[in-house]
Amino acid sequence: MPNDPLKNAQSQIRKAAKILKLKPNLIEQLLWPNRLLKFHFPVKMDNGNYRLFTGFRAQHNNALGPYKGGIRFHSQVSEEEVTALSIWMTFKTAAVDLPYGGGKGGVIVDPQTLSPSELERLSRAFMRQLAPFIGPNQDIPAPNVNTDGQTMAWMLDEYNQITGHSEPSVITGKPLELGGSKGRTAATGQGGVYILKETARLNKLKPQQTTIAVQGFGNVGYYFALLAQKSGFKIIAVSDSRGAIMQKNGLNIKKLMIHKQKTGSVASFPGSIKIAPQKLLEQKVDFLVPSALENTITSQNAPHIKARFVIELANGPTTPEADEILEKKGIVVIPDILANAGGVTVSYFEWVQNREGYYWTEKEILSRLEPIMLKAYRDSLTEAKTHQTSLRTGTYLLAINRVVQAIKLKGY
Ligand code: NAD
Repeated sequence: MPNDPLKNAQSQIRKAAKILKLKPNLIEQLLWPNRLLKFHFPVKMDNGNYRLFTGFRAQHNNALGPYKGGIRFHSQVSEEEVTALSIWMTFKTAAVDLPYGGGKGGVIVDPQTLSPSELERLSRAFMRQLAPFIGPNQDIPAPNVNTDGQTMAWMLDEYNQITGHSEPSVITGKPLELGGSKGRTAATGQGGVYILKETARLNKLKPQQTTIAVQGFGNVGYYFALLAQKSGFKIIAVSDSRGAIMQKNGLNIKKLMIHKQKTGSVASFPGSIKIAPQKLLEQKVDFLVPSALENTITSQNAPHIKARFVIELANGPTTPEADEILEKKGIVVIPDILANAGGVTVSYFEWVQNREGYYWTEKEILSRLEPIMLKAYRDSLTEAKTHQTSLRTGTYLLAINRVVQAIKLKGY
């Protein structure tokens, strides 16, 4: 597979592990998941026929707590992708100091080809496969690409039917009515905005004069763009899988979302200029914010990137080769395992609230999220400075240290 995300994740671990002088057998443990589950399961389609689907759950590491990570529905889901994503979850939860390990799941499917009732049956059927391997103290799924609160609601209901009791903390990213947390839907974008504001502050950038290009306008990209704009930043370019647009004076994100809801895409937004999707990445902006899928910034396009900072809200958007090119160009990359940790942090708050049966206000959520994000950012910057390395490796040093300490304390 070109730009195999698993190889990319493993190379990031090796780089930090070398600085930490970890023993080879310990490094080996970090490179592979504890468990990789593969399922083939039939789902009844609307026409009465059964279709066989393939799904995965990678449980990478649980030294610091139960496996934690989303479930993705996408035609490009693969064993390697799910494993890479589970590795990034382990180090993301460790970077923000949550009592969790890392996991990830996915089903190979293009959900746009399914009707709502087929999607429901698929979600429930996948949960029937997963149920023996997950639990509030074992492995806690959440939404990811093409899955949302509704998907989690179906999955939770299926799990509760299987176990015979209500267990809301088995899954996060639920709708509020089913024990979801205030602030969860916007959390990844919100966390990204805390990182954006802190970077602007550290670099003395005024929001009104700071330009941003956002690739991907789904859950993460939309909330990031909306909240960044609310803080005064200028979003000048946005793309989704169907097109890319630009407006030099700044796009109105709320109106853009209404347009996307009507037409299915950001393309042809009145008042904007159409640009080639590739050109979005090459805009002369202060911040480039990849919020779509892996392997967006590669050795081919990295030489043309002109942003000063990259905030990785997608998981794994930059290949290791591209990373080196950006570093040489002096472009600072704020890595995925730090920048997009807002989502899993509020998922953790959701899990805590479910276990307490006591719910927090949105203000309480945000007042707890911001210091966690900023502390992880500061600690990563310190690690990077101490070891004269990139911010990505600095964050890995912070996170790997925590995981390795737990592994050593447990004595395996
Ligand atoms: P989503 O499905 O809601 O949105 C994905 C967006 O990316 C869509 O707008 C889609 O059109 C767009 N897209 C796909 N291919 C594209 C391309 N080639 N060019 C431009 N746009 C493209 O998914 P999401 O939940 O927003 O997740 C996006 C990324 O953020 C993923 O990498 C995911 O793993 C990561 N992430 C998500 C969360 C979360 O809380 N949802 C948390 C952490 C990380």
